[in-house]
Amino acid sequence: MTVEENIAADRSPVFDSWDRTHLWHPYTSAIDPLPTYKVISAKGNRLTLADGRELIDGMSSWWCACHGYNHPQLNAAAINQLNKMSHVMFGGITHEPAIELGKRLLTIAPPSMHNIFYADSGSVAVEVAMKMAIQAAVCRSGSHKKTNFATIRSGYHGDTWNCMSVCDPVTGMHGAFGSALPVRYFVPQPGSRFDGDWDESDIHELEHLLAEKHNEIAAVILEPIVQGAGGMWFYHPEYLRQTRCLCDKYGVYLIFDEIATGFWRTGKLFAWEHAGVEPDIMCIGKCLTGGYMTMAAVLTTREVADTISRGEAGVMMHGPTFMANPLACAVACKSIDLLAERNMSEVIAAMERTMKDLLSPARDLDNVKDVRVLGSIGVIEVNQPVDVGRFQKECVRHGVWIRPFGRNVYIMPPYVTPETDLITLCDEMIDIVRTLDN
Ligand code: PMP
Repeated sequence: MTVEENIAADRSPVFDSWDRTHLWHPYTSAIDPLPTYKVISAKGNRLTLADGRELIDGMSSWWCACHGYNHPQLNAAAINQLNKMSHVMFGGITHEPAIELGKRLLTIAPPSMHNIFYADSGSVAVEVAMKMAIQAAVCRSGSHKKTNFATIRSGYHGDTWNCMSVCDPVTGMHGAFGSALPVRYFVPQPGSRFDGDWDESDIHELEHLLAEKHNEIAAVILEPIVQGAGGMWFYHPEYLRQTRCLCDKYGVYLIFDEIATGFWRTGKLFAWEHAGVEPDIMCIGKCLTGGYMTMAAVLTTREVADTISRGEAGVMMHGPTFMANPLACAVACKSIDLLAERNMSEVIAAMERTMKDLLSPARDLDNVKDVRVLGSIGVIEVNQPVDVGRFQKECVRHGVWIRPFGRNVYIMPPYVTPETDLITLCDEMIDIVRTLDN
């Protein structure tokens, strides 16, 4: 949409000119912003626009609203906690919601996880995980040089400084910061598909890197199985198994960023389960509170926690104001309980079957490069970068909410999406993709 069209569209209650002039939305220009659609309420898997139109949500608000919106039990959990206290500092104080959530997390996390650090967003969790890895690596090795990180290309780990440094320098959205960022070691992304054959050469670069540079590397950081915002790529579990072996061989910690993949999105409770290897440090977020509010957590082993505590500082050097926010903890407890009440493995398998059946035919379109479905994530990769503004305008016209990036048009709908709505989402997604340039 041009600026003029935007202004004209302002006559609709769905667009707000004050918003367009003053509010910065994610990754947008202040001069010629992409249109933003005013949502006035949301329930289940539907978003209601200011003019009354309803959209079927395909995005779960960027992976997080797994139970859909306005869930009666999550609302009740928030209100109940709000009436007791919405926040209290975590320094020198503790509270039941933090303890209850911690207990639940340790029952669902990889068995070797033992200590939990609550953070206020996914990016902060990644920062904390990297700080943990450095503190533990320096103490374990006795070397102050062991402070760098290795990762794979096409990754995405958040928008803060250190997170940006381990995002893909090209596809990871932070190219503008180039030389200002700390320089990390990147190896190619594994080319072996999740559901394809394992190509042994995929691991060679990481093997060489760790053999040569392990004295400088505190940790390898990865999104297990599904690379999200850096390219929506699903890779082979063998890569994780071999990475684990290499990390053990060379005394390098392994961090899994499960912020997007956690809580059943890939068909398992957490994506590490596809490979059966555990990390030393794990970040979770997004679905943690069922998408109700911002909260994340970093989980780690007793070895890492004890090593940090024996180190020079003797403490974990981080402590945000809103750490373990009781409201967020209370809602997160209820969200985990809701997941436990359903047969999630079957819910996600059913979503996967529908998306595979309906999206696969898009492979035959001339402008489509690849179609990938895993768990409740469906991706159509097209040949040319998508014009997001135009695409979203079409989505709204078709009654669905999908936000593509780069060459990837993808959906990861709430787990409460009725089958009929999932079918509509897939059908409309293909119809719109069909109209894109080749
Ligand atoms: N890691 C991954 C894998 C993510 O997908 C994201 C969010 N897109 C983050 C970290 C950052 O989380 P947040 O946006 O909550 O800071």
